Amino acid sequence: MPMTDQIQPIILTGDRTTGPLHLGHYAGSLKNRVGLQHTHRQFLLLADTQALTDNAHDPDKVRRNVIEVALDYLAVGIDPALSTICLQSALPALAELSMLYLNFVTVARLERNPTIKDEIQARGFGRDIPAGFLCYPAAQAADITAFKAQVVPVGEDQAPLIEQTNEIVRRINRQVGRDILPEARALIPAIGRLPGVDGKAKMSKSQGNAIPLSASSDDIRDAVHRMYTDPNHLRVSDPGSIEGNVVFMYLDAFDEDPAGVEDLKARYRHGGLGDMAVKRRLEDVLQALLAPIRERRAALARDPEFVLDIVRQGTLKARATTQETLDDVRRALGLFAFDG
Ligand code: ATP
Ligand code: MG
Repeated sequence: MPMTDQIQPIILTGDRTTGPLHLGHYAGSLKNRVGLQHTHRQFLLLADTQALTDNAHDPDKVRRNVIEVALDYLAVGIDPALSTICLQSALPALAELSMLYLNFVTVARLERNPTIKDEIQARGFGRDIPAGFLCYPAAQAADITAFKAQVVPVGEDQAPLIEQTNEIVRRINRQVGRDILPEARALIPAIGRLPGVDGKAKMSKSQGNAIPLSASSDDIRDAVHRMYTDPNHLRVSDPGSIEGNVVFMYLDAFDEDPAGVEDLKARYRHGGLGDMAVKRRLEDVLQALLAPIRERRAALARDPEFVLDIVRQGTLKARATTQETLDDVRRALGLFAFDG
């Protein structure tokens, strides 16, 4: 028997609408979300407002990708009967909560956030950091707490953001003298950070090193062929190195036969196993994983109204939930209210 809404723990996650989702999203978060939707009350946020924080020059990209990310959700198996998909910019309570939370965090603390530091570097902002970007951890705290989420299935890069959310939660709870907001726990899988196909630290929409979930079969083959292995592994007979070898990291993340992968690693280390053989196995694994996702996605893409209607319904539901939390916080902080 399914658990009732009342006792199901709440999940909030989201994705910036900066491009179609990729294998990093699948490994880091989507796979967990598909599984957890049966036992949790789950909200998925199409984070277009957050996407604007480093894309103010290209709002059209942010808007176009709303439906792309929604398509990815449905294609991997997010079920709108079990999960609520909603649009961040259409939830005004999130913006209001963000403004309130900004008073419970210092600029110095925002600047110290290791993820923000990395992202500022990766985006080459130098000293020209959009204020909205520097402050997005407070907005993310608003997103998570507006749904009173206890669990946040995310990739490793998000851990410092959840930590910062919980600091804000504790400060507000201390200020109002009771636990009005719950702390959230990051749920990070063993492969918490999938590297890009170029071997760079993280597969990322913004870095052009991603394999999108919608990749064609040719794209998958090309990406695997170009993948970074061990540069010192020149002849098949040479011993090879697994550490930093992108192909093996992907096998660890996606191959359903870990014993087989361990066997392959042993043979590669020993010498006698070529890069091409390992890449062929990875290609098979990725083709099998992505083919059904690509097919479902293509079918759904033929009916954009159906997809948008799911987002519309989800957003209406989320509007009520988030407004309730905003009202609680306003009351608890003792802000002036016209109705007493
Ligand atoms: P952008 O480059 O625009 O920031 P992104 O590729 O980093 O995009 P996000 O929308 O910022 O994607 O991240 C959404 C979720 O996916 C987060 O939970 C994040 O941790 C997870 N995620 C993104 N990339 C990876 C990755 N390479 N490995 C594991 N998890 C990831
Ligand atoms: Mg990101």
